[in-house]
Amino acid sequence: MQSSFSCRRVFMCPAFAILAGACARGPAVQTAPQAESPLVAVEASSRDTAAVLAAKSLIIPVEGVDPSRIRDSYTAARGGRTHDAVDILAPRGTPVLAADSGTLLKLRRNDAGGLTIYQLDHTRKFVYYYAHMDRYSEGLAEGMRLRQGQVIGFVGTTGNAPEDSPHLHFQVMFYRGRGQYWGGEPVNPHPLLSRTGRRR
Ligand SMILES: [Zn+2]
Repeated sequence: MQSSFSCRRVFMCPAFAILAGACARGPAVQTAPQAESPLVAVEASSRDTAAVLAAKSLIIPVEGVDPSRIRDSYTAARGGRTHDAVDILAPRGTPVLAADSGTLLKLRRNDAGGLTIYQLDHTRKFVYYYAHMDRYSEGLAEGMRLRQGQVIGFVGTTGNAPEDSPHLHFQVMFYRGRGQYWGGEPVNPHPLLSRTGRRR
């Protein structure tokens, strides 16, 4: 199974024991802010930005899933890395919803994440990453506007997700700018996902 991993920044990401492996792209977890440092201002700014993200009222990006069904596996160890994401289990074919409004930044297929979407939020500060989808919804195109709750795809097991455990791998990252959809500092989406996924 590990031998099938071929993309950079790949690590396993099961939400539960039954999930043998899945993938995400994500940078290493950042260390905690240090007090009495010249960097405090920058770090405080990051915290402020995270607070802005928390105030955005994201919805759970899988239709019909409520917060009680999502385990926080953000810090779980996965193949020498941390997960930096959450896995949302749902039957194959369940609609995947845009967690927030924004712009479709990138449609990409890779060996580990399978069929994926990178979405830029409307403030252009955050990237939402959706992976392992069975298929996209029709009519998606890079650069198009997305509204919160819009169906963007369907839950599946593409990439390295176990065939018998369909789920959406969902990650939130700070946007690096200039179209760089990958590699931003991750933010734990779990505490942000307090609203059941409802299609709009
Ligand atoms: Zn995952």
